[in-house]
Amino acid sequence: MNTITVKTGDRDDLADITRDVQRCVSESGIDDGICVVFTPHTTAAVTINENADPDVQTDMIHGLNGLAFEKMRFLHGEGNSPAHLKSSLVGCSETIIVSGGKLVLGTWQGIYLCEFDGPRTRKVHVQVK
Ligand code: ZN
Repeated sequence: MNTITVKTGDRDDLADITRDVQRCVSESGIDDGICVVFTPHTTAAVTINENADPDVQTDMIHGLNGLAFEKMRFLHGEGNSPAHLKSSLVGCSETIIVSGGKLVLGTWQGIYLCEFDGPRTRKVHVQVK
């Protein structure tokens, strides 16, 4: 297993980790297999989405915040229940096929660490088999 460290820049942030994950695949020496990308945090997530227009990442954050969790009443004393909800909605892992030593992603797909309670330093575990 490899671990990527990501410093996020804002409360909500999408950090492109595609190159870091591909580096883990290359270092594994595995040509054909599966790559699991997992973040061990309850207020962050991992997703795959468009890497061409950065407005898409901004829109994703805007859209999730449009669910208006901030206006709901929650019990959790830490005060970050909206971030916990967004983490579970988006999910903490992705699985990507590896072929010819490369991640099999669409032309416009990138892998993102999603921050919902930043800025923080986050870990992303990568396992290639
Ligand atoms: Zn919390």
